[in-house]
Amino acid sequence: MPGFELFGNAERKEVNDVLDNGVLMRYGFDGMRNGHWKAKELEAVLENTFQVNHVQLVSSGTAAVSVALAAAGVGAGDEVIMPTFTFVASFEAIMMLGAIPVLVDIDDTLALNPEAVKQAITPKTKAIMVVQMCGSMGDMNALQHICNTNNVILIEDACQAIGGTYQGKPLGSIGNLGCFSFDFVKTITCGEGGAIITNTKEYYTNSDHYSDHGHDHIGNDRGAETHPFLGYNFRISELHAAVGLAQVKRLPEFIAIQKRNHTIIRAALSQIPKVTFRTVPEGGEESYAFLNFFLPNMEIARKVIQGFNEGGVDACWNYYDNNWHYIRRWEHLKDLKSLYPISNEVKEGLKYLQTKTFEKSDHYIARNISCLIKLSWTEQEVKERALKMTNIIKSLI
Ligand SMILES: *Cc1c(COP(=O)(O)O)cnc(C)c1O
Repeated sequence: MPGFELFGNAERKEVNDVLDNGVLMRYGFDGMRNGHWKAKELEAVLENTFQVNHVQLVSSGTAAVSVALAAAGVGAGDEVIMPTFTFVASFEAIMMLGAIPVLVDIDDTLALNPEAVKQAITPKTKAIMVVQMCGSMGDMNALQHICNTNNVILIEDACQAIGGTYQGKPLGSIGNLGCFSFDFVKTITCGEGGAIITNTKEYYTNSDHYSDHGHDHIGNDRGAETHPFLGYNFRISELHAAVGLAQVKRLPEFIAIQKRNHTIIRAALSQIPKVTFRTVPEGGEESYAFLNFFLPNMEIARKVIQGFNEGGVDACWNYYDNNWHYIRRWEHLKDLKSLYPISNEVKEGLKYLQTKTFEKSDHYIARNISCLIKLSWTEQEVKERALKMTNIIKSLI
């Protein structure tokens, strides 16, 4: 991560195909295209990559999560269970549909704690959203089991874990619907973009129509198409899809580089007895986009981050002090600072955030350090970095 580190001729060629014929929109204008349908082509490549029946591209990962929920019929008053450690997009998507985000603890996988999920289920629960943070995953068998027994859908946000697998299945393809982001800092980037993947035809058709104003996409006259239901515009452009197409073909290459770099740093840190690593569920293989490790306590974690900053080790974070990824700093959500009125149902539904504490999540996040694994490092640079990190940690532990 991120894929822009290795932009090159492949990306340039795909973009030039689009600029040469001038059709920047993914639908229509058949005669002008010279056969170029970058969004459709990227959807086909993604179906193959993720071994799923259907892929719908959209304008961002946030749009992907929003459209996935809408496609599954999540709406006013429904409860969606989500983790305390994620990106703000999770609750943004839920609230956009008038549904209620129910935040629950994570565990040492840094994803949803299945026990906490079980306890949060109510008759209003419509979906569980597992977020595969920092290149790894939650206990998918346990979460799937909870969904099956309670008849709720599983939405998988795999925006940070593209290329990871669980028991042989690509992450994103395990839930009823999976979501990806191709924003500028993700492993596969096209600037702004996202995808919904599913094996359920109905969810796909809903996503296809909903992300384009409800268009049924039948025939080749957009003005004459019907609108079976209401929608919005979450379309991706051909320019973005073109960059994504070049990038996604390089996914195996990117994952191999991430794995090499991750392995070197992890091996070095493993030499420090008080450093432990996030749990990867049995049968899981990370995407290696990040290396996550735990220190004995929050004070040491904060000191190590400071040591890294002063010692020139960039791209490492302690998410306890982060504004975007952890419940602790989401005052705008807790205080419902919305530009427009929020329904009484959602207001009532979110009152618990005024008092609820998340000790189990704090226990993991406060001690965790998450380091981005870059694609552009040489092996020598990774080794030097690993040595520097080890020395800094040893001096502070
Ligand atoms: C990046 C990200 C998103 C949102 O993707 P955008 O394309 O930036 O809208 C959603 N969830 C997670 C976990 C992410 O990391």
